[in-house]
Amino acid sequence: MSLQAYHAKRKFDATPEPRGKQGRRKGSQFVIQKHAARRLHYDLRLELDGVMKSWAVTRGPSLVPDEKRLAIHVEDHPIEYNAFEGTIPQGEYGGGTVMVWDRGQWYPEGDPYAGYKKGHLDFSLEGKKLHGRWHLVRMHGRAGEKKEPWLLIKSKDEDARSASDPDILEEEPLSVVSGRSMPEIAEGKGRKQVWHSNRSVADNVKSGAIKGARAPTSERASARPKQSRREQKAQRSGEKDDS
Ligand code: MN
Repeated sequence: MSLQAYHAKRKFDATPEPRGKQGRRKGSQFVIQKHAARRLHYDLRLELDGVMKSWAVTRGPSLVPDEKRLAIHVEDHPIEYNAFEGTIPQGEYGGGTVMVWDRGQWYPEGDPYAGYKKGHLDFSLEGKKLHGRWHLVRMHGRAGEKKEPWLLIKSKDEDARSASDPDILEEEPLSVVSGRSMPEIAEGKGRKQVWHSNRSVADNVKSGAIKGARAPTSERASARPKQSRREQKAQRSGEKDDS
């Protein structure tokens, strides 16, 4: 039921996005997808109850605690969506390029169901780029309202930065799964990216449309198609910063 809005908004014979279905396994993945749609934004997704609860963060996350970022609550996405990187055709819902900008695990403090309902989630992120504690807080208005505005706020901890430090969005602009830039993804460089919605997820993974959403890192590395030197370099530098 939770994915009804997601399915209703998309034509799966026209978009490479996964159809997906609600998962049964209890997990705690998070992903942030940079999405160059009509307006550039960063989609933050937190796994809860077999789906990815989703917010469109209009200016992207900031490591500066005073820089509260508007996060518009949007429809739940399937967990399979975490592996989606590619281009949604123009004219389709959300048309534009999508990059997996960060991903990893999220750890809610307290009961995440109660927090989500109340409109106040405190949690930590263990991603490739983002770490430490964060808050998501619903602003005025009632739960269930269309386009609820929330705020994404970095907590003050050792992972926080000051306004004079580099902006993480500029410092770490590449995909954490392919090392590609937004223009390279838009060109379809280095990856077959056509998702066939009439095939199973496994078949799409096998044909290289995406990498497995849950594949361990070693499998992902071996499944990766040939890379250019530039991509390898980008990837190495990304991994170096991972520790
Ligand atoms: Mn989006």
